[in-house]
Amino acid sequence: MAHQGADEKRLEETLSVIKHKLVVLSGKGGVGKSTVAVNLAVGLAIKGFNTGLLDTDLHGPSVPKMLGVEKFLTSGDETHLEPAVLYDGKLKAMSIQFMLQNLHDSVIWRGPLKHSIISQFIGHTVWGKLDYLIIDSPPGTGDEPLSVIQTARPDAAIVVTTPQEVATFDVRKSIDFCEKMNLPLAGVIENMSGFICPHCGEETAIFSTGGGRRMAQDCGVPFLGTIPIDPGFVLNSDQGKTFVEHVTEGKSMEAIASVIENIVKR
Ligand code: ADP
Repeated sequence: MAHQGADEKRLEETLSVIKHKLVVLSGKGGVGKSTVAVNLAVGLAIKGFNTGLLDTDLHGPSVPKMLGVEKFLTSGDETHLEPAVLYDGKLKAMSIQFMLQNLHDSVIWRGPLKHSIISQFIGHTVWGKLDYLIIDSPPGTGDEPLSVIQTARPDAAIVVTTPQEVATFDVRKSIDFCEKMNLPLAGVIENMSGFICPHCGEETAIFSTGGGRRMAQDCGVPFLGTIPIDPGFVLNSDQGKTFVEHVTEGKSMEAIASVIENIVKR
């Protein structure tokens, strides 16, 4: 497949029928950015919104595994990439994984090629009309998030962090990155915020608590909510199931529902 980025006209056409484009960012890997992006997209699809989920992590695409579609191969030609269609057509997902013939192939590309493929994903995927496009960006403030922002022109960013200072120190750079790019911030989500023991009900602040909320306040950015540490996230995603669909009650479910509600309201 030739990796020609989408031309400007084509990009305009694709983007013009997408109502809200939200990019999920984080300055640090492993804080739960993809978990949040997947659960947010599925939560919106379950609510009845036509939703797209674009995994732009070219080196560690975890969205397909989390959705249970890691073996899906895109069809169509290079200017019409067919996304995986899930949840009665309400969710369309695209990832580099859908172009790899072998499940465990790695992607070794330099910057310009990565920019082309990201723009091709955004402009050439057959998204159709969408209420929301959720873009899971690679972590950090380097080439790939820059390509995502320049190409998809998101309406706003959602920044995910864990509460401890080692994470917020890096994630704060994502907020600065958005400000420098003139990208409005929908808000900060504090993930892995405390663990409630399923046996005694006592809460333990494994990665501390409150760091994400404090960071949001310090930066004058809206705070969208906390999501606790819950083994259910790991168990479900390893089986290709989403937490938001398969867990219907409990504090973590209420937390995710409240975060989604906050995003829809904004
Ligand atoms: P990132 O996209 O930031 O690199 P991931 O979404 O891949 O992070 O999450 C990293 C790991 O942490 C995964 O194994 C995921 O299942 C787990 N995880 C994410 N959020 C939570 C949570 N709230 N509770 C427990 N495990 C979580």
